Amino acid sequence: MKLKIDLHIHTFYSYDSLIKPKEVVFYAKKRGLNGVAITDHDRVDGALKIIKETDFLVIPGIEISSLHGHIIGLNIQEAVPPKLDVDETLDRIHEAGGIAVACHPVIFFKESLKEHISPRFDAIEVINSSAFPFNYSVRRSEEIASRLGIARVAGSDAHYGPEIGYAYTLVNAEPEVDEIVKAISKGLCSPYGRAIPLTTRLKKELLVLKRKFSW
Ligand SMILES: [Zn+2]
Ligand SMILES: [Zn+2]
Repeated sequence: MKLKIDLHIHTFYSYDSLIKPKEVVFYAKKRGLNGVAITDHDRVDGALKIIKETDFLVIPGIEISSLHGHIIGLNIQEAVPPKLDVDETLDRIHEAGGIAVACHPVIFFKESLKEHISPRFDAIEVINSSAFPFNYSVRRSEEIASRLGIARVAGSDAHYGPEIGYAYTLVNAEPEVDEIVKAISKGLCSPYGRAIPLTTRLKKELLVLKRKFSW
């Protein structure tokens, strides 16, 4: 079974996201996705709460601020602490039964892993719809994935509802979290997607400003 899953979404449990929990499922369905992974910054409580409240396929995840850049853990039920080095972060993810994704490995203005990516990662996020500059980031990430021979995935890195689904990973698996992460780590998946349009990004930035200054 081919499942269309956006593997990188932030809800408002992340300090920098506008997405209300209910919007995740609303936009995911609207975009024709079969599932999503919720990957809030350094916490899993939002993801676990949403999973309890919906029948939609939601993978519990986390985006960990490691010492050397952001790392996504998928199928994670307990938060992995931030500010550990890459190896220790990977150990913690694997001990917790999850898989590790090197997210937005090559971008400007954000924490990216670059030379810290190794074959110890289970997958590399070659398409991140929020990455800047987008084409450069995809090209360089593809090169790293080929060189290391690890699975390729994609996610929107949405922080605003309409951004959900601009990138997704097609995973060849049954619609169960354990099966999906197993399939990804075996490379039974492919990345698809494009950059979030500029108009959508601008709308988001305005809403973020509005929230900041409570206009
Ligand atoms: Zn990040
Ligand atoms: Zn993110």
